Amino acid sequence: MALVVEKYGGTSVGTLDRIDAVADRVARSRGAGDDIVVVVSAMAGETDRLLDLAHNIKLESGDGREEKVARSTATTGVAARELDVLLSTGEQVTIALLVLALHSKGIQAKSYTGAQVPIQTDSIYGKARILDIDPANVRTDLETGKVVVIAGFQGVDVDGNITTLGRGGTDTTAVAMAASLQADECRIYTDVEGVYTADPRIVPNARRLERITAEEMLELASLGAKVLQTRSVEFAGKYHVPLRVLSSFVDGPGTLITHEVGDMEQPLIAGIAYNGDEAKLTIRGVPDQPGVASRIFGPISKAHINVDMIIQNVGLDQTTDLTFTVKRDEYETARSILTQVAEDLGAHDVVGDNTLAKISIVGVGMRSHAGIASTMFEVLANEGINIELISTSEIKVSVGIADKYLELAVRSLHKEFNLDTTPLEDPLEPAES
Ligand code: ASP
Ligand code: MG
Repeated sequence: MALVVEKYGGTSVGTLDRIDAVADRVARSRGAGDDIVVVVSAMAGETDRLLDLAHNIKLESGDGREEKVARSTATTGVAARELDVLLSTGEQVTIALLVLALHSKGIQAKSYTGAQVPIQTDSIYGKARILDIDPANVRTDLETGKVVVIAGFQGVDVDGNITTLGRGGTDTTAVAMAASLQADECRIYTDVEGVYTADPRIVPNARRLERITAEEMLELASLGAKVLQTRSVEFAGKYHVPLRVLSSFVDGPGTLITHEVGDMEQPLIAGIAYNGDEAKLTIRGVPDQPGVASRIFGPISKAHINVDMIIQNVGLDQTTDLTFTVKRDEYETARSILTQVAEDLGAHDVVGDNTLAKISIVGVGMRSHAGIASTMFEVLANEGINIELISTSEIKVSVGIADKYLELAVRSLHKEFNLDTTPLEDPLEPAES
């Protein structure tokens, strides 16, 4: 008998009918004799709706100015604690409805909020980290034959305050529960059939991957493949939680995220990720001397702006140019900070472009093969696409290009790296006789 943690996202529990369908699916897993812990998100759109409600309330900031509650969950100040109290209710609704649906099918079940488990977190409202989980109560309920239904995305800090884990945090709750219970598998049910070689909306013949390493999944998740919250993949890697992504609408094996590479032949490239909303900024003619990079990036990081790719040119005449990328919605803020920095440093000027896209190819097979990056550059050259920035790691190559070429680039790369065609037989899959 196995212990399985099943996570259902917002779309999968978006209506009462869908909650009923989830209850049927849980009933089937239960019928197969497994112990089941279910972790659920808020019903689709609910977290956004709650955020919007709060956003419409004007706050009195200390100096008499009026302020609005931020539209993101990561807030500071007085609003932060209350926002988490508010947002945690979304998941609380779903756990109760799912347990009722299970009861209606004659299945014993019990709901838990994060605090009731308890899932202990730090006190960073809106993006709290899980510190510890005591699974004793959940275990007792499982032993008496109950299905346990847990609210995702939330926890409780040491003072009893409700916290939330950041957007998409239910994935992390599920993986953390699986780690804590030493579950046999953590299944992430979602609205896609698994992890694909590329976004099927852009590449119609993208394939579902049978398996992918946690390392690759982590790169893909952080590069913009939005199947799993990045933190949940980190967590799964750290605790070796067997993780599977699969559809809650269509039956199928999904994609298994593995932790041991073994001596299995690795495909060169597991997948291609993209981000269509990047921007780049260049500060030209900065003095080429120690401390300059830190004077440029210090103020940018103080403003909580994430910098991604960075390029510094070879200095000429004791000055140099420095280019970096940011998310498009932070472009204006970054640009005005940089303009001020340029003035302070006596740099020549600041130029920018907010129509950039980033495309990345990811694969652990790159470690043992040379020439992957140059193949990528050749494909783009043949399409007449100019590469504006490049960054690499051991298992990925990313390029910045004009966003109007995004689809063309992704499709051409997908084809060139043979992702369009079914790979040779998976050596771990028993051959059909
Ligand atoms: N309900 C939260 C969100 O929409 C958490 C989750 O669904 O994972 O981000
Ligand atoms: Mg999600």
